[in-house]
Amino acid sequence: MELKPVNVVVRIRPAFNTKPLALQWTGESSLEMLSHRNTEESIKYSFSRVFHPESTQASVYETAIKPLVANITNGQNASVLAYGQTGAGKTYTMMGSPDNVGIVPRSLQTIFQLIEKQPSAKFTVKVSYLEIYQEKVHDLLAQADKTRPQQDLPIRQTPSKDILIPTLAEKVISSPEEFRGQFAEAMSMRHVGATLLNERSSRSHVIVLVKVVREENNRRLSGKLYLVDLAGSEDNRRTGNAGIRLKESGSINTSLFYLGQVVDALNNRNPAVPYRSSKLTRLLQDSLGGNSNACIISCICPEECNYFDTLRALKFASKIE
Ligand code: ADP
Ligand code: MG
Repeated sequence: MELKPVNVVVRIRPAFNTKPLALQWTGESSLEMLSHRNTEESIKYSFSRVFHPESTQASVYETAIKPLVANITNGQNASVLAYGQTGAGKTYTMMGSPDNVGIVPRSLQTIFQLIEKQPSAKFTVKVSYLEIYQEKVHDLLAQADKTRPQQDLPIRQTPSKDILIPTLAEKVISSPEEFRGQFAEAMSMRHVGATLLNERSSRSHVIVLVKVVREENNRRLSGKLYLVDLAGSEDNRRTGNAGIRLKESGSINTSLFYLGQVVDALNNRNPAVPYRSSKLTRLLQDSLGGNSNACIISCICPEECNYFDTLRALKFASKIE
């Protein structure tokens, strides 16, 4: 797979019922969807890659993500974002299940394997865990410690253009297993609300940040990897959202819209990239575009009942690719 500033891939999860959408995939990078109740018209979309329902966690990781992760130990930045409606497989893709782990544990595995191969350098791996909820940045690790009140953490830019959150908690880990142990509690601290679509709908962008510092011959290199499980992209007019839920949907849709604008600008080599329009794009500024590589995985549902959200996800993904 050729590496662009931001690669966009699509992953179709296995169907939950017997009424699948008219989705057809012939090659490994294009997908055709027949129009709703009008099978004569169809729309064809192309992406860097289309992962079919049978594709494994390993193949998604090895093909689309591992090439990005490999550069982190050399001081480069990267980000991986899972996009899609609630239930489309974002969390499965990023975290996975215990016997079928996803991108986050696999990335840590790769990082520690690379470190082992370079015994002459000293490496430090630090992990942070945070969420952006209604345009507020919350530290999910500090929250799990319950040592600090939950507050909106400021995002700062250093004179050397690094973006950071000065007060964000970070844990030094020395193995992928240590990550699993330390983060189990924090992972249950997310803002989750019931909607008509899905009881445990994700309303926030959840971010695992892995920092790798490499010291060798008085030289210090620092690489960052952002792993983002985005808030559900569903159309709030269909989910029966009201009140606080509607307000949440508003800020989710706005920040996903700006993410699309940023990626669109990057892939079109437009020098004016609107990073400052949302917290998410501001935070990712030094790891999305520039010398860094990024991948957006647009997760889609194959059932007919999800037609409109699938169409939106395909349009979003194909517009920015
Ligand atoms: P999201 O995070 O986008 O709301 P989930 O990752 O929770 O969606 O996925 C919804 C359900 O579908 C979960 O039960 C998950 O285990 C299952 N699932 C998603 N993608 C796959 C896949 N590729 N293979 C098998 N099960 C999947
Ligand atoms: Mg989820």
